[in-house]
Amino acid sequence: MPRGFETAERLLGALADVLFPPRCQSCGRTSGALVAGLFCPVCGGDIRYIAPPVCPVCGAPGPAGQTADRLCEDCRRAPKPFAVARSLAVYAGPLLRSIHDFKYRRQPGLGRRLGRLIIDNNYAGMELEGFDVVVPVPLHVRRLRERGFNQSLLLARTVAAGRGIPVDFVSLRRERDTPPQTAMGRNERRVNIRGAFAVVRRDRLRDRGVLLVDDVYTTGSTLGECARTLLEGGAARVGVLTLARALPETPEAP
Ligand SMILES: [Zn+2]
Ligand SMILES: [Zn+2]
Repeated sequence: MPRGFETAERLLGALADVLFPPRCQSCGRTSGALVAGLFCPVCGGDIRYIAPPVCPVCGAPGPAGQTADRLCEDCRRAPKPFAVARSLAVYAGPLLRSIHDFKYRRQPGLGRRLGRLIIDNNYAGMELEGFDVVVPVPLHVRRLRERGFNQSLLLARTVAAGRGIPVDFVSLRRERDTPPQTAMGRNERRVNIRGAFAVVRRDRLRDRGVLLVDDVYTTGSTLGECARTLLEGGAARVGVLTLARALPETPEAP
């Protein structure tokens, strides 16, 4: 590139930073350095990353005082169909606000940056190398028309690209639209979601290690049902990776 262009480009870049300084996705304040390209240092510091000790199966953070990984009460009571689930951080504060903006205020570009947050992290007890294909939690076609995009697919694409493995958004389909689960308890959710998904391309999933990706792990009923359907459809093993994990005291998605 001729030197004049390079200089002009640098000048334009500097001018853009002055005219449109990067803003924190959560609080809207301008900041010279955004954490992960998303958050000002204050909001970035408010993200509660999930670290051991956790439940070795569902990845739920252990209660205060617990020092080693231990099976949580929920997994002891009802074994999970998936082999392992992990989440980046607790569904609260800046991360919760960003997920809401991404989903309900239709900011798909934000989804790609959030997806990169997922892959720029290590998950104790879960080897991301062990999976052959990334599958997003499918949206029913009616919801897809309302929202215009599937938030799980956007995250899944970024995760798949980061891991260098394919994303498959065809083989698992949502057959039945179910009433919103927000006001439902754990058991109601399980009944509500039962049979909502189907594997329509068994040949593509047979004997594969599937990494199921979603935005939020709430009670695990939707993810569990997807995993059960995938295993029945021929998958060898299902792991779950989500951006956020709702804890009992955190508000649930609307
Ligand atoms: Zn902020
Ligand atoms: Zn558990």
